[in-house]
Amino acid sequence: MKTDRKMRIETLAVHAGHEIDGATGAVATPIHLSTTFERDPEGGYPHGYIYGRSANPNRQALEQGLAALEGGEEAFAFGSGLAASSAILQALAAGDHVVAPTDVYHGMTKLLREVYMRWGLEVSFVDMTKLGLVREAMGPKTKLIWIETPSNPLLKITDIAAVAEIAHTAGAICACDNTWAPIVQRPLDLGADFVMHSTTKYLGGHSDVTGGALIAKTKTDFSERVREIQTTCGGVPSPFDCWLILRGMRSLPWRMRAHSENALKVATWLADHQRVERVHYPGLASHAGHEIAAQQMNEFSGMLSFEVRGGKEAAVGVAAKTNLFVRATSLGGVESLIEHRASITGEDPRTPQGLLRLSIGLEHPDDLIEDLAQALE
Ligand SMILES: *Cc1c(COP(=O)(O)O)cnc(C)c1O
Repeated sequence: MKTDRKMRIETLAVHAGHEIDGATGAVATPIHLSTTFERDPEGGYPHGYIYGRSANPNRQALEQGLAALEGGEEAFAFGSGLAASSAILQALAAGDHVVAPTDVYHGMTKLLREVYMRWGLEVSFVDMTKLGLVREAMGPKTKLIWIETPSNPLLKITDIAAVAEIAHTAGAICACDNTWAPIVQRPLDLGADFVMHSTTKYLGGHSDVTGGALIAKTKTDFSERVREIQTTCGGVPSPFDCWLILRGMRSLPWRMRAHSENALKVATWLADHQRVERVHYPGLASHAGHEIAAQQMNEFSGMLSFEVRGGKEAAVGVAAKTNLFVRATSLGGVESLIEHRASITGEDPRTPQGLLRLSIGLEHPDDLIEDLAQALE
């Protein structure tokens, strides 16, 4: 980018991390597959690159783009969302205490319980919609509060600014999993110190690349440590994956607008359907977290869930009848997905058996509504 003028998010998304290739004039960034880079006769590295695990031009471009979009000073790309989450936990030490939400992404629960608690990390799981419980969970060894909002699969809303303040008062840092609401929610502006993304989802945006990222609001000793973990533990993405994610990010602000607009229409329609017991979408005024969501989100993103009357059998029956919605897990792609969530997360009592989770894509909303109408008949 040639200008330092503060740009709007759509412009940043198109240009951040993109430069005309100096060697060829290529407008689309070349993919640099080389794992090693030549030294000059004096033994130096004139271009700054040494070896693929420590840095690669495509990864650096992606990290610039990520930092620009979330408004952070630096970013770290990983081979998956969980590799990114893992890096922040690895930057802590045995005996440190983490506060995480009870309804955190199920892979994160597994990571905490089955890996890091075995290595001596202490973890408290609390209902983060209740700030009193978050305050009570804080102790002298608390180093990190982990937020995920909107939550999965009930779209519960956590007040990011309030929880970040609780963290800072206790001398801890606050990290927010922003996978479900990029662009429309800006946790670093609200006080969080780190943002985590599964870039597999909205950032990649086309269900064709697995990746993860951390974005730090400012460079600190802790973010230095995260950089060390990234290159020492080596959970880095391939150059081609970096290229695909950065390509996806160029249209992200416009996609999020359309995902949000479509989801609000589908949620509003579902809320009126006689076979639907409950709709979980923070954009609906009836949603328990709507007021906070309206303060901290510009739009409400493309994820929603709803409960079909009649429990598991009825819900699975509805998913079986959709033609346009694809029955698959994951989210954030251009195509709409439907998922009976309890079958994925197992017998988790927090996931209602009649619940279907929708990732609303970029199809015309009337086509999506017509598909759900015939499936609910
Ligand atoms: C998918 C997801 C993750 C994990 O990301 P992977 O890329 O699958 O490792 C973490 N958090 C949320 C909210 C997710 O949706």
